[in-house]
Amino acid sequence: MSGQNMFCPKCGKPEQLPETYCRQCGLLLPDLSKPVKHEHPPEVHLMANKILNGLTTVVSFTLAVLLYLFLGFGPGTHPLIYVTFGLLIAMGCWHIQTFIRTLQLTKQWKRRARFSESIASLPESPATTESVSTAKLDQVGLIEASAASVTEHTTKNLSERRS
Ligand SMILES: [Zn+2]
Repeated sequence: MSGQNMFCPKCGKPEQLPETYCRQCGLLLPDLSKPVKHEHPPEVHLMANKILNGLTTVVSFTLAVLLYLFLGFGPGTHPLIYVTFGLLIAMGCWHIQTFIRTLQLTKQWKRRARFSESIASLPESPATTESVSTAKLDQVGLIEASAASVTEHTTKNLSERRS
């Protein structure tokens, strides 16, 4: 609840609203009821993904190689060993593919971040975009209205002609 009254943590003046300035000492009063966000930026997620993918790839291929080295593939090899070997190779390949996709995502994300920076440096014009979309909506409304009237007229004419 952000409407709750609070004490100033600096001077102790009571009955003040959070996210305002203290009426006595001018300290900015924080809203303590709001949860503190611990969000990681996307680069951190992407980096973690890349590390995990890389590790899984290395482990999968290493295990596959070890399986081959220690158990070998001969006429007496249990089918399960072949299955496990295939699974490890498939897992390694899958994680290579995910790794490449994450690399592409990182590039895309960096490009987008640069793009939004350049957008932010431009002067904002929300009024223009709003009026444009309203104009478009008006146009759509007009088209729909005329379409409706055309159908109405046609059906009216038809029913008049029929009677
Ligand atoms: Zn105060």
